[in-house]
Amino acid sequence: MRATVIHGAGDVRVEDVPDPVLREPTDAVVRVLRSCICGSDLWPYGSMPVSEQGRRIGHEFLGVVEETGVEVSGLRPGDVVVAPFVWADNTCDFCREGLQTSCRHGGNWGAPGVDGGQGEAVRVPQAQGTLVKLPVGEDSALLPSLLSLSDVFPTGHHCAVTAGVNPRTTVTVIGDGAVGLCAVLAAKRLGAERIILMGRHKARTDLGREFGATDVVAERGEEGVAKVRELTGGDGTHTVLECVGLRPAVETAYAVVRAGGTISRVGAPQYPDVPADFGTFLRNITLTGGVAPARAYIEELLPDVLEGTVQPGKVFDRTVDLDGVPDGYRAMADREALKVLVRP
Ligand SMILES: [Zn+2]
Repeated sequence: MRATVIHGAGDVRVEDVPDPVLREPTDAVVRVLRSCICGSDLWPYGSMPVSEQGRRIGHEFLGVVEETGVEVSGLRPGDVVVAPFVWADNTCDFCREGLQTSCRHGGNWGAPGVDGGQGEAVRVPQAQGTLVKLPVGEDSALLPSLLSLSDVFPTGHHCAVTAGVNPRTTVTVIGDGAVGLCAVLAAKRLGAERIILMGRHKARTDLGREFGATDVVAERGEEGVAKVRELTGGDGTHTVLECVGLRPAVETAYAVVRAGGTISRVGAPQYPDVPADFGTFLRNITLTGGVAPARAYIEELLPDVLEGTVQPGKVFDRTVDLDGVPDGYRAMADREALKVLVRP
């Protein structure tokens, strides 16, 4: 089969690789219907050292079950399924606590010996715990929104949940990437009435308004902070959803959070430390968030996607086939595309 292999910064190739086969009795083989490129794939795309052998990449996909191992129950060939961005048994103590990202028997797509999602098919370890069956056909118009359940929508949701967003909290979302926009959608879904989106790409913040943002602040740094404070009577917001992962975004988060408030960060941090000085102590700021256990949220978010009350798939603004994947990376890195859907 063909699959995406990254060989270093700026070097993404689509290559012939071995067809996936069942190796463990807990495996399934899934033919990929839709996959996509993640903002976090852009970190290795920007900085990975050159590798002759390369490594498989892609951690968001949905597809059709082709084969299941003898220990997999509840899934049959022909089922349409979505995979969260890590695989997990969904039965260990961490999984039962809703922290499938710390599963004792789980792991990452694209790790040595494990397929990535940006290919024609995937061997899915711990298939029974990992895959969630979707009650749709292979040609459903909902596939893009259902694919968002792999990562960006649950990640935005995790950000809002861990920040404690509810109808009484005001919210600032930092970042107009796919996760930031999904955080807006999640905050709105949890009942927030005031959602300030900080982002400067108009097409993206327009989608943010459609998803529920009540205000958009395009300014950055001190100007952006002043604008958010002006919008909130000088206090800032109860919750801040940091969906970027860069140091200036975290600094902005601390500057726009209201005393007693909570910052949640789901942008993969590209910085070693966070402000934790006497000033933040005096203001009783809580910092939470982390990698989202997407698997824990899929069943909860699925009905709203099926009913169309939320349409997170609108974050996809470009579709490519496998041959188009390298250019999809380039387009996202150049900020030409918000999020690229892959249709193998
Ligand atoms: Zn587990």
